[in-house]
Amino acid sequence: HKYVYDFAEGNKDLKDLLGGKGANLAEMTNLGLPVPPGFTITTEACKAYLATGREPDGLAGQIEAHLESLERGMGRRLGDPHDPLLVSVRSGAKFSMPGMMETVLNVGLNDRSVVGLAAQAGGNERFAWDSYRRLIQMFGKTVCEVPGEEFEHALDEAKRARGTTSDLDLDADDLRGLVDAYKKIFLKHTGRDFPQEPREQLDLAIRAVFESWNAERAVLYRRQERIPADLGTAVNVVAMVFGNLGPDSGTGVAFTRDPASGAQGIYGDYLANAQGEDVVAGIRNTVPLQDLERLDKRSYDELLGIMARLEGHYRDLCDIEFTIERGKLWMLQTRVGKRTAAAAFVIAGQLVDEGLIDLDEALHRVNGAQLAQLMFPRFQLDHDFEPVAKGVGASPGAASGKVVFTSARAVELAAEGEAVILVRRETNPDDLNGMIAAKGILTSRGGKTSHAAVVARGMGKTCVSGADEIDVNVPAKRFSVAGQTVSEGDVVSIDGTTGKVYLGEVPVMPSEVVRYFEGTLDPDEADDALVRAVHRIMTHADAARRLAVRANADTGEDAARARRFGAQGIGLCRTEHMFLGDRRELVERLILTRTDTERSDALAALLPLQRDDFVEIFREMDGLPVTVRLIDPPLHEFLPPLEQLAVDVAVAQERGEDVAKEEALLAAVRRMHEENPMLGLRGVRLGLVIPGLFAMQVRAIAEAAVRVTREGGSACPEIMVPLVGAVQELETVRAEAEKIIAEVVGDSGVEVLIGTMIEVPRAALTAGQIAEAAQFFSFGTNDLTQMGWGFSRDDVEGAFFWRYLELGIFGISPFESIDRDGVGRLVRIAAEEGRAARPELKLGVCGEHGGDPESVHFFHSVGLDYVSCSPFRVPVARLEAGRAAV
Ligand code: PEP
Ligand code: MG
Repeated sequence: HKYVYDFAEGNKDLKDLLGGKGANLAEMTNLGLPVPPGFTITTEACKAYLATGREPDGLAGQIEAHLESLERGMGRRLGDPHDPLLVSVRSGAKFSMPGMMETVLNVGLNDRSVVGLAAQAGGNERFAWDSYRRLIQMFGKTVCEVPGEEFEHALDEAKRARGTTSDLDLDADDLRGLVDAYKKIFLKHTGRDFPQEPREQLDLAIRAVFESWNAERAVLYRRQERIPADLGTAVNVVAMVFGNLGPDSGTGVAFTRDPASGAQGIYGDYLANAQGEDVVAGIRNTVPLQDLERLDKRSYDELLGIMARLEGHYRDLCDIEFTIERGKLWMLQTRVGKRTAAAAFVIAGQLVDEGLIDLDEALHRVNGAQLAQLMFPRFQLDHDFEPVAKGVGASPGAASGKVVFTSARAVELAAEGEAVILVRRETNPDDLNGMIAAKGILTSRGGKTSHAAVVARGMGKTCVSGADEIDVNVPAKRFSVAGQTVSEGDVVSIDGTTGKVYLGEVPVMPSEVVRYFEGTLDPDEADDALVRAVHRIMTHADAARRLAVRANADTGEDAARARRFGAQGIGLCRTEHMFLGDRRELVERLILTRTDTERSDALAALLPLQRDDFVEIFREMDGLPVTVRLIDPPLHEFLPPLEQLAVDVAVAQERGEDVAKEEALLAAVRRMHEENPMLGLRGVRLGLVIPGLFAMQVRAIAEAAVRVTREGGSACPEIMVPLVGAVQELETVRAEAEKIIAEVVGDSGVEVLIGTMIEVPRAALTAGQIAEAAQFFSFGTNDLTQMGWGFSRDDVEGAFFWRYLELGIFGISPFESIDRDGVGRLVRIAAEEGRAARPELKLGVCGEHGGDPESVHFFHSVGLDYVSCSPFRVPVARLEAGRAAV
């Protein structure tokens, strides 16, 4: 089994085996760039070591052979007393994990070779002893777990004795003394002398790098970055070159473009007479890379030439680490560099201009998460703002405003022109007006699919939910956090991307990209490279994608915005959102009444209101399909809270007041009360139980469509029945609806489709039957996830998802990104069986997943016709649908 690769044997595509660093060192070697010679021990060797606790058979011999050839190439032997070869032992996993694993430099130094190193360095004893003390320090810490502070103390002590605070003032004798002190520390903690045998040093260092894969911080980092835990790290053994041999030596980092903005130019830092770790430790200030031109023009020109070559070769922004040893340039590392969201778009556009990549490739170089980031206003956090609490980043954006605790107060203050943040334990539909009036919403309970989160996302409004450090006291109009009290009128700032909450006002910057999407910024006239790049890439995504993108919108205003953002229709209009505010009472009456007259009165009052809502939406979406979902409220959202009502009635009775009416209401609420409202009288069940309710809605939709068509417009309504689990439910609703539609539509030319949501697992599993009665399916992946997993949408995220994420049971909430294996399988089955029964069946998705990048790729692969998401996610879905298709 081959466990060791010479740099000349690898290439950049072998990252799995050689890690990122090793693969790129190999690539540079094969490009003929000046890379110090070396070899890479594979991730497989690491995995074998971690599995068994010992080096795999054959590894030692292979290392020996490669070391020998390295020695031959360099004309020096490892740790030779007269002319030593020294090596660095560096970790390097497939995915960059900066600073999380170990590195040991100067391996090969001992009491004898330190003298040889001084001779090699032209008699520079100081340098040799400094290198030796660094080895003992690094080796002690990383290989033998000697506490680092002990070495630090000894170093401070040496400086104190010399009367200085700078390492540079220590001379060769001081450093020789320090080596003695370090060796004593090493002996004290390990019970053995510092190993003098170079090969033993090397083997122990390699083992330490293997083990650092499972260091606590590495494990934590992987979990956060969702890097699989079983990849292992490669180990690179590289001939040492020294940047600390004098003023004609140095070390630096460089980027081939600006990783913040994408702008072309020379970006980097240089530090003369230093090694890489000094740059990181910030011992001295670096100078801009441009200054190298003055210090060492030859190396500078060579470096620029190499950077241009690397960019051309990798066809992307590269970052680079280099060292200059006495006027000779060495490349120590390169990789395709990390960059900001803005730089990702700008660079992709530039590379297309330069002919390095085509537009398909440019699409792969950016992603929806980056686009989403560019669409939100951002806090300028260059000031000293510390968050006081952290919740779930439920709806991104940045908002500052005065704290209010009730919807009414939010509306009041907003009307006075104040920016307000509505703070609640959790929101309910009654808070809608306050949510509309507020700049942002902050709750102490609930996760990403809580009411606050879903509604806020729908409105594109900033929301932090589940910030449980916040103790909200609504009656007292204050909340407490981190030992401080925040009262109504105090200003807070919330970041809906990170979930962070700040006291006071953090300054905000608006998004140019949104202005572009809204049509107020012409990409051809914008002198903004970012807007032009976004325009170009979006245009290509639209041309490439097969999935259509619709929006979830319940008002004309949202519909208009969605359309500006590129929505090709409405995939979900939630009609229960039209029954809030003043209309709530009518719905309450409808639900609670037992008399036909009262019910008909309520319905008659609702009909024109509904019709006007639909007219507005149909007008905005002229010519595009609009899926209107019949009412689906969890009942409790429309009824007065039982406990409160019971208390009120009891108190009134106590006072001897006449409570006959209240008692009747209480009895009705009690009758309707549900322990699990999400599993109760919702959706089609409500429609089948309350006579006339669905009929009224169908009539309103049909009448609105006819009116808009008569005006000269084109309305394309699709009536959607929620929560269907059995085809019989749908057939019952459909029969009634078709009668009404035929009656209303007459010869107006309006065509109304009737379909269903697939959001109950049983519906997915009987999709073949259901398709017989449905002209379209729209997957309600919120409920399908809720019922598929048995996870209450409103409760679980705050209650225990953190633990599931910590344990890796899932890497991301299944409410956020579709669970392909389980819930996704239900979608796949339903799509296949539905289409088998009715080939022209239209398929879409309207759960929150419709705007999630990962999920969009899944829906593309299942063959859906469209995804539907909140208006602000429409561009993200367009981009990801394009990416899925190329
Ligand atoms: C769903 O369940 O995915 C859905 C879109 O409906 P709602 O979120 O309104 O239950
Ligand atoms: Mg649903």
